This record gives sequence, structure tokens and C-alpha cells, in this order.
Amino acid sequence: MKQKPLPRVRTKADLRKIIYDWRQAGLRIGFVPTMGALHNGHLSLIKRALEVCDRVVASIFVNPEQFAPGEDLDVYPRAEDEDCAKLQDVGCHLAYCPSLEEMYPEGSLTNIRVEDMSDLLDGGPRPHFFYGVATVVARLFIHVRPDVAVFGQKDYQQFQIIKRMVHDLGFEIEIIGGETIRHADGLAQSSRNLYLSPEERRGAGGMFAALHRAKMRIEAGTPIEAALKEARGHLTACGFSKVDYVTTADPHTLLALDEAVAVKGKEGRLLGAGWFGKTRLIDNMAFLREER
Ligand code: AMP
Repeated sequence: MKQKPLPRVRTKADLRKIIYDWRQAGLRIGFVPTMGALHNGHLSLIKRALEVCDRVVASIFVNPEQFAPGEDLDVYPRAEDEDCAKLQDVGCHLAYCPSLEEMYPEGSLTNIRVEDMSDLLDGGPRPHFFYGVATVVARLFIHVRPDVAVFGQKDYQQFQIIKRMVHDLGFEIEIIGGETIRHADGLAQSSRNLYLSPEERRGAGGMFAALHRAKMRIEAGTPIEAALKEARGHLTACGFSKVDYVTTADPHTLLALDEAVAVKGKEGRLLGAGWFGKTRLIDNMAFLREER
């Protein structure tokens, strides 16, 4: 028997009618924002939301505010029908696919900036990026008004910035971080992996390997800077054309952690970013030095 297609709405007004009915019925609503081109990483977030919610909404919106001139906005993969079929298969209840005009009404002047946290790591060279993320997510939160929203820990800085925004602005939304879904060689699944040539794809697994080795070394007591230096060398040896950073940070503030402040028994975050030609890959993982 042919399945009914996933309900898809494009306006706040249509979205709100459905959300209103769900709220009247006392249902708990989960939300997963995406830019489409969905893969198993995105779908895992839907499944995570379904574990704790009665209804789950996914948004598909390629946010131009997150791209600078010359970045990949025009070529960013778009596949709405396939995406909706995938969402349907994992049990999502509704797709919200707003137009540009719906998200940014003409003459729109309001933006959200989560200060400091947006200027580090991936934000260093492109602070506009996280202003764009915070602004679109705040707008989507206001449209959907979910009880729970799930973000991937793969984009760890984004996840922490959203948590901070929710705290600062008093959104009554529980933010959950979904585990990173990886390929067999450890490479984090990402829409941008599609840009890699077969040879680059083989080298790209080195990001996970380098971070994982650094994590093991730090946990075993190797001085942090030595472990990070080795990881940077590992990335270059795997064919990364440029390494933006491999670093350790406080898991909440994202401020750099060095040997002096990496307290035993307190979790830290290890993060890396590097390039294959025009394709930028990021990854991260937790580390913990046991108290002995
Ligand atoms: P994007 O469509 O790239 O904006 O991603 C939408 C959401 O999916 C974000 O919360 C991402 O962190 C999350 N995500 C992307 N890739 C993965 C992955 N490999 N594992 C888990 N979550 C992911």
C-alpha cells in the first residue's frame, strides 16, 4: 500500500494551525532544524526527538545568512522531495519548508548575536556565520514553539551557542545534543562530504583518527600541546591541504583549555577543522583525564 506523503507546510500560518491542534491535545512537540540534503546524521536527530516527544517537526531551510559571498550557498545540495520521503520513513510528523520571505520578511532588521562564543573556533574567520545560525534558529523557535529541540554534537560550537541563546533569552525549550553519526572509517557524516574526490574521501577519515589518538594520549597523561601538535601533523600527513585548528576547549564556554586549566576529573572538548581544497571538515569529541 502506498504511504501518505509527509505533511509539508511553507508558512507560519499553516504551521501554527497544526501546532495549535497538537497543543490542544496535550502533545509534546519536538523540533529538528536542518538545511536539507538529509543523511543518517540528520535522521538520527529525528529518532532522538521521537524518543522524548509525541510529535516531531523538521525544518528544511538553506539559510543564506550562514553563508558569506563566495561560500557554497548556490551549490549547496537541495533535494526537498527526497528529504521529505526520508523524514517520513523515520516517523517524522511534519516538514516545515519556509520560503526566504517567510523567514526574513522584507525590511527585516532584527538579528541575534551570541557574543564571544561566536568569535572563536569556526567563528574566528567568519563571525557572521554564528550570528546567522542564532538568528535563524531563534526565528524558527518562535514559529514552531517546540518543547524540545535536537541539535547534532557534530557541530559542537553551534550546539553550545544555541544552548546559551536559549538560556539567555529564556526560551522554554529543552535542548538535546544528538551523538555524531559516522561512516565506518570514523568520518562524521556531512552533506559536504559529497564534494570530496575519492582520494580526498580516503584521507578525510584522518580527522577522526587524529582526534581520537589525541584524546587517548591526553587521557593517558601526555601534555596537551604535544598531543595537539601530533594531531595537526597527522592531518597534514593524511592530505589535508590546510589545518584551521586542533584544540582543546571548555565544553560549555568553548574557551581554550591548556595544560594548566585542564582539571583532572572535568570533561573537556577536543575540536578540529581542516580543508581538502575547497571543502572544510570539522569534528570533535569529549576527553576526560581521570582523577588518580
Ligand atoms: P545542517 O543541515 O548541516 O544544518 O544540520 C542540521 C542538524 O544536523 C544540525 O544540528 C547538525 O549538527 C546535525 N548533524 C549534521 N551532521 C550530523 C552527524 N553526522 N551526526 C549527527 N548530527 C548531525
